[in-house]
Amino acid sequence: MTKPSKAGRTAPVVRFAPSPTGFLHIGGARTALFNWLYAKARGGRFLLRIEDTDRARNSPEAVAAILDGLKWLELDWEGDPVSQYSRAERHREVAHALLEAGGAYRCYLTQDELAQMRAEAEAEKRPFQVRSPWRDKPASDAPQDKPFAIRLKAPREGETTIADHVQGDVTYSNKELDDLIILRSDGSPTYNLAVVVDDHDMGVTHVVRGVDHLTNAARQTQIYQLMGWDVPEWAHVPLIHGPDGGKLSKRHGALGVEAYRAMGYLPAALRNYLVRLGWSHGDDEIISTDQMISWFDLDGIGKSPARFDFAKLEALNGHYIRSTDDAELVARTEAILPEIERGRDIPTSLDDLGRARLIASMPGLKERAKTLVELINSASYLFAQRPLNLQEKAEKLLDTDTRAMLGRLLPRFEALSGWEAADLETEVRTFSEQENLKLGKVAQPLRAALTGSTVSPPVFDVMAVLGREEALARLRDQVA
Ligand code: GLU
Repeated sequence: MTKPSKAGRTAPVVRFAPSPTGFLHIGGARTALFNWLYAKARGGRFLLRIEDTDRARNSPEAVAAILDGLKWLELDWEGDPVSQYSRAERHREVAHALLEAGGAYRCYLTQDELAQMRAEAEAEKRPFQVRSPWRDKPASDAPQDKPFAIRLKAPREGETTIADHVQGDVTYSNKELDDLIILRSDGSPTYNLAVVVDDHDMGVTHVVRGVDHLTNAARQTQIYQLMGWDVPEWAHVPLIHGPDGGKLSKRHGALGVEAYRAMGYLPAALRNYLVRLGWSHGDDEIISTDQMISWFDLDGIGKSPARFDFAKLEALNGHYIRSTDDAELVARTEAILPEIERGRDIPTSLDDLGRARLIASMPGLKERAKTLVELINSASYLFAQRPLNLQEKAEKLLDTDTRAMLGRLLPRFEALSGWEAADLETEVRTFSEQENLKLGKVAQPLRAALTGSTVSPPVFDVMAVLGREEALARLRDQVA
């Protein structure tokens, strides 16, 4: 894990560094996507680091969920994910190196002393800042056998500027930044130290992450500078807000990626939606992954928070469903069957017949569906067991007269030699003319008898997909 020299910085190295405290939420997914795109666009490397130092809040299930979420989104990273926790020894080594080099000092302030400093600041109505007396004391004054933390000897004069690709130049007066603890008295490294050491060792050239880490960037810059390391380039991406401009709520989309999968979204659609949340390329709405890769740039990320809009995501998903091939749609639908909200009759797994029927009906189904869940649920008639359980409207439609009419139609179907949608349509058209009925007056009851519902894909397609035997059996069930 060595970092290329500045001159060698041709291909960027980026990373996604989630804290495994829950699932891969939608904001994290977008950060991962931006990083991935940036690497892909420039022949760079996209690395993954799991920030698992908070042992109490971190779980193996959450790590697995993050990896699954990234895999589902097809954001492939290079190499094994780096565990931040496993690198604690290296973080301690750097803290001690800083101490040796005079960029940090041993601080013996106790909790009581810190509490007192805080109380004084409050009483004087000034912001609390740690001003440790140990910063400038000679080593000879240090107490023996007393616990100490290692604090950064941060510059007190001047400014620290973050030249950010998204936020522009953001300047902090060094007076505002107090001496950060880098190693706690129990020997555990703090967050900002760990991030800097890991990013440096992983050779990260560009840090792309949420704007909530902007202040950390200033702190981290100080650590880089005191270590004499190259500071990476920064891009702090605005947060995703709800449709009302407020904090994104669960109802409005603050969900894990796995929830989007279970709602029947396609990864390509979610990628397209996420990239447009905060980044744009003219007025383009539909942007293929290849186009994203060739057009994406950090400077194109907007500064104001994006608003999450389910309707847009659905519309995009509908587009991607229509342009995805049938076999892939069936495979993706099968993969989520156990976890989705299934309508009546939909099994948790498909048998060969069910799969064949679903593939055959795909051309009609995919024209209308906005999600895979809608798609499979609108195909529930394929899986229904005879005799069909009729929905109320279908039941109404199938009164004595219409059942008698279907009874006259049935033998004509039985006599047909072909069973293609076109054969069936010709037969029904001839029949309705002879009966002096409008086509719909025949087709609607037919649909009700065959699907148990009054809405379905075109009825002749339905018959063709069900096959001669099943379709005839369903009709006989209703006319007998
Ligand atoms: N672990 C941090 C988070 O999940 C990200 C830190 C970083 O990207 O530097 O918010």
